[in-house]
Amino acid sequence: MVTNVFVYNSSEAHMKFLQKHPVRLLKFALPKTADVVIIGGGIIGAACAYYLSAAGLSVHLVERHFPASGTSRACDGLILLWDKSGPELALGQESIRLWGQVEEHLEEDFGFERSGTILLAENGEQLQAGEKRAQALRESGQRAEILPAGRLATLEPEISPHLAGGILFPDDLQVDPRRATLALLAAAKRQGVKLQAESEVIDIQHAPGEGGGVRGVVTSQGVIATPRVVCAAGVWSNHIARMVGIDLPTRPRKGHILVTARRPGFIHHPLLEGGYVTTVESAHDARQVALVAEMTTSGKLLLGSSREFCGYDRTVSLSAIQELATRATRFLPGLESTPIIRSYAGLRPWSPDGLPLIGPTRVPGFYLATGHEGAGICLAPVTGRLVTQMITEEARRPEAEVVAPGRCL
Ligand SMILES: Cc1cc2nc3c(=O)[nH]c(=O)nc-3n(C[C@H](O)[C@H](O)[C@H](O)COP(=O)(O)OP(=O)(O)OC[C@H]3O[C@@H](n4cnc5c(N)ncnc54)[C@H](O)[C@@H]3O)c2cc1C
Repeated sequence: MVTNVFVYNSSEAHMKFLQKHPVRLLKFALPKTADVVIIGGGIIGAACAYYLSAAGLSVHLVERHFPASGTSRACDGLILLWDKSGPELALGQESIRLWGQVEEHLEEDFGFERSGTILLAENGEQLQAGEKRAQALRESGQRAEILPAGRLATLEPEISPHLAGGILFPDDLQVDPRRATLALLAAAKRQGVKLQAESEVIDIQHAPGEGGGVRGVVTSQGVIATPRVVCAAGVWSNHIARMVGIDLPTRPRKGHILVTARRPGFIHHPLLEGGYVTTVESAHDARQVALVAEMTTSGKLLLGSSREFCGYDRTVSLSAIQELATRATRFLPGLESTPIIRSYAGLRPWSPDGLPLIGPTRVPGFYLATGHEGAGICLAPVTGRLVTQMITEEARRPEAEVVAPGRCL
């Protein structure tokens, strides 16, 4: 903010300052306008920037730290269909199709793999529940293969022999979420998007009164005049929405992940335990843990994951690490001697009905793209596409109604 004073004040001291800082002069002296300003440089903001710029709009993306500095670097990169049903499944199917297109279009490698996933069943009851999911997915056109214990052991020899079996979902994908965010942003920049990093949004200018629309975005590096804002600030979207008088019902839901030393080839598919969906759907505040194991391209394992409501606290808890490690060795006993080299925690943007909030609000020009909880990586492309269709008034997909923010504002 102070730097704006330098631009408009021509006193001698200020002219000296500007001579010393020619780059800053350029940065702050240029008038900034955009068709759309996106707030947040996570996977959702990046996908919105990618599709909006592809549609020919001038886009400015504002990120207070650096790209992928929020939840999109503190998560797994699984693109799952089997954990979804109804409208969320339809969104997921469309997003998987779009991820395939994105992979072909982007120049950067972001660890995209058609890995499939395996759902692990510890007992007959879990196997039956898995078979039901498999049947429902097949009816929606996806593939699913029931794995009796012997076949599971052939595919994944490190799995504990106590398991009853599993289900292979071959259509699920895997990406490196941080690199995917950066790759989408790099493509968006090639399409003309201006990325303003280390720049915090501190206010949104909008005309007062009912029907008053967005006019501009006030950042720590100056004001950008715009008639449209896409709020893609993850769990921090609540703070942004309050700037235009909207209270969001979303809450941060913390999750921990452990990173092991390199064990290339230890598992061959991402693995999730049968009870995973119960933890996703539960509304309890207390921590819940379910195994999610994923191999990274560098041969390290990511072991998750936990879910708990504890505000905006992102510190790593020792008890969570212990719970995750115990859980992982229950399913993969060979991990007992594998060192944990790192751990981190991220905040999922949880919404009350489990669906994201995507679309316009009662403030003209203020759009939401948040509330994806544990599916933001999966649903990023379809979110970017929907936001773009809404802004350009192209024909929309029917799912647009289901995710419309008005349902819970
Ligand atoms: C442990 C864990 C595992 C997960 N696993 C998966 C998975 O396997 N598959 C999947 O699909 N999803 C997964 N998720 C969920 C996924 O990570 C999130 O849904 C997704 O990352 C949310 O992306 P986002 O862009 O909305 O938010 P973020 O990545 O948090 O981005 C928001 C950005 O907004 C910026 N920002 C905030 N306030 C301001 C401001 N005032 N001004 C400017 N910038 C601002 C922040 O700095 C941040 O960079 C997981 C999440 C966790 C925690």
